[in-house]
Amino acid sequence: MTSNKKITRQAVSLFHRKIKEAERIAISGHINPDGDCVGACLGLCAYILDLDPKKKVDILLEPISEKFRFLAYADHIMQEKTEEEPYDLYFSLDCSDKERLGAFQELFEEARFTICVDHHISNQGFGDLRFIDADASSTCEILYDILEEKKISFDTAQCLYLGIVHDTGVFKHSNTTRKVMEIAGALIDKGVRPDFIIDETFYKKTYIQNQILGRALMESILLLDGRIIFSAIKKKDMDFYGIESGDLDGVIDQLRVTEGVECALFLYEKTEGQFKVSLRSNGKVDVRKIAEQFGGGGHVKAAGCTVEGNVRDIVNSISPLIDQQLEQGKDV
Ligand code: AMP
Ligand code: MN
Ligand code: MN
Repeated sequence: MTSNKKITRQAVSLFHRKIKEAERIAISGHINPDGDCVGACLGLCAYILDLDPKKKVDILLEPISEKFRFLAYADHIMQEKTEEEPYDLYFSLDCSDKERLGAFQELFEEARFTICVDHHISNQGFGDLRFIDADASSTCEILYDILEEKKISFDTAQCLYLGIVHDTGVFKHSNTTRKVMEIAGALIDKGVRPDFIIDETFYKKTYIQNQILGRALMESILLLDGRIIFSAIKKKDMDFYGIESGDLDGVIDQLRVTEGVECALFLYEKTEGQFKVSLRSNGKVDVRKIAEQFGGGGHVKAAGCTVEGNVRDIVNSISPLIDQQLEQGKDV
């Protein structure tokens, strides 16, 4: 356990006691699972099964990207419960609220004991035991704080490292602290290979993914004297290329680093007339506040929401809110 002022010793010992006492455990993360979510779910599963291989651990999660499937216990991921009885213990990882558990919310609610581990600033607190730290880079960082260092195996270490890599954008977002680097170093000591994890799960793209990235950048539009950039992909184009949402990873990040841009928006059409909106800030706009106005959430510099309408109307309703914040000229 590393030092984390938001986590008490009592809470940590209850976390470990609950694992010890539980026979049937479930772990879920948010819908549309990203690297931090997948790393946290698989890392915790590996940790529990390393301690006691006889325990039953179900990971109830939407199907994950192929690029994460090499991680240990990826085959424990399922979309249907295997038990009639409520789970003894249920973990919600990387979810800012219960709704983000999607189809598994009800199973979580009926479990005998629930634990929430999360780092979203919009998390108001849910679950019987809570580890919520908006200063943490990732849910995997908080898990590292909770888990006993000497019991972290290579399998767990690889998952936690992957989660940290993804939520820090490979150690470059402003959530990359000294502590993050120290944890990453400790995980490397466990045998994790940074080159492998970073290239294979973050930078590597299929030819089609590169094409769609190129297209999104080429069709991007600057607003407000270049301080906002947006791009959008329609469902019919996603169908044409045969791509899914995970194939669009990295687009928003590249839009954000466009010179002069304060805020980047990327929209993709989930179903006809319904867009997932990703928002990223370079420090002058609190995008979480904006996403929340549309029923979403996230972090100050990275947030998301799902909005009905067409691209023009959605951008026209979001950009004045960005403009308002830019006018105030404050750093977030
Ligand atoms: P994304 O743009 O999907 O990469 O999301 C950026 C951040 O915002 C992540 O931390 C997400 O967990 C969070 N986020 C995205 N969409 C939503 C949503 N609809 N509700 C709450 N949080 C969200
Ligand atoms: Mn996440
Ligand atoms: Mn996260």
